[in-house]
Amino acid sequence: MSKQKISKEMSIRRAKTMTEVVISLVIVGTCGFFVKNTFSNMKEVTSSSYFDQTDIEVTTPTDNVNIDPNQTIYESHQVDTKDKFRGDLILVNEEHQYFGGDEDLVSITDMNYENERTCFTAVDSTYTILRQVYEPMAQMIQDFYDKYNNDTLIIYGSYRDTEFQQQLYENDLAQNGSDDSTKVAKPGFSEHETGLAFDFSETENYDYTGKGDFEWLNANCFKYGFIVRYTAAKEKITKIQDEPWHFRYVGIPHAYYMDSKDLCLEEYIDIIREHPYDGQHLDFSDNNGNDYEVYFVASDDGAEKTNVPVPTGTRYEISGNNVDGFIVTVYKGQKPVVEEAPTKAFEDAENDTDSEDDSSEDSDDQ
Ligand SMILES: [Zn+2]
Repeated sequence: MSKQKISKEMSIRRAKTMTEVVISLVIVGTCGFFVKNTFSNMKEVTSSSYFDQTDIEVTTPTDNVNIDPNQTIYESHQVDTKDKFRGDLILVNEEHQYFGGDEDLVSITDMNYENERTCFTAVDSTYTILRQVYEPMAQMIQDFYDKYNNDTLIIYGSYRDTEFQQQLYENDLAQNGSDDSTKVAKPGFSEHETGLAFDFSETENYDYTGKGDFEWLNANCFKYGFIVRYTAAKEKITKIQDEPWHFRYVGIPHAYYMDSKDLCLEEYIDIIREHPYDGQHLDFSDNNGNDYEVYFVASDDGAEKTNVPVPTGTRYEISGNNVDGFIVTVYKGQKPVVEEAPTKAFEDAENDTDSEDDSSEDSDDQ
């Protein structure tokens, strides 16, 4: 824990303690006042009938306690500092490596079979994706199918382990006779290694353009928690060319906000950092009228644990940003179910024996 951090935490704690002391004094004082007046009242009543009731009305408990009953109350929650590398909002790009392992993956083909979904396919049963990504992805494609009666979509890229990314990278270097690839991310730096991203293809030729009927997917994916991660307009920031086929899961509130403000993930992560816990939180509502509150908590990089303030009695999620801290998402006015994204994604991890031989995937993608 850094010195600055300690003094910050202490000052917060001190302020909190002071508040508690003041409240306690007011309560004790008020009770004392009432007890005192009850006694004096009894005394006065017995001795005189001219006891002046207006004395009591001068001070009421609420006059001195300036607390808004609708105000959110936060409590400290300890998370593993290394969990800043985990969660739905991690930023993985050429500057920020993915430190993964133990991803909770499901086979897309198996899940389609179990759920009797025939509106899309994966290349084969070795194609896996994070468990929490499958359902929103499948639901989005189901809604697309219901609208356009088109069942030709193929998941042509999904989770890749680092060895496979290495293989793709080396193949691309060999093909282009170069020592750097502009098409394939370096091993450890691809979103596909997180299990949060997938690629569409219309046929087996890796040809998804997001045009025609498919335009609906690119325009509506935010409603399911996805962003089109690499667009031509943001190429200077993402350093990756237009990839209309590459979708990345971030969760509904964040996909909604990024879509409505036209932000790429790099920009959004920077904006959230400007909304720290002890500053102005990012408050917004999505197109369904759900209210959210989002704020940033810097990771305590010298310590094993980081204190993350979270709201009491309200559903929230914590995700690392893979750079310097945690992002807390508060689901206001929804049922109080506590979810912790970083650990949830890695609990009940399956042994990943499926992902070794998915080398049939085309390499023209990050
Ligand atoms: Zn991709």
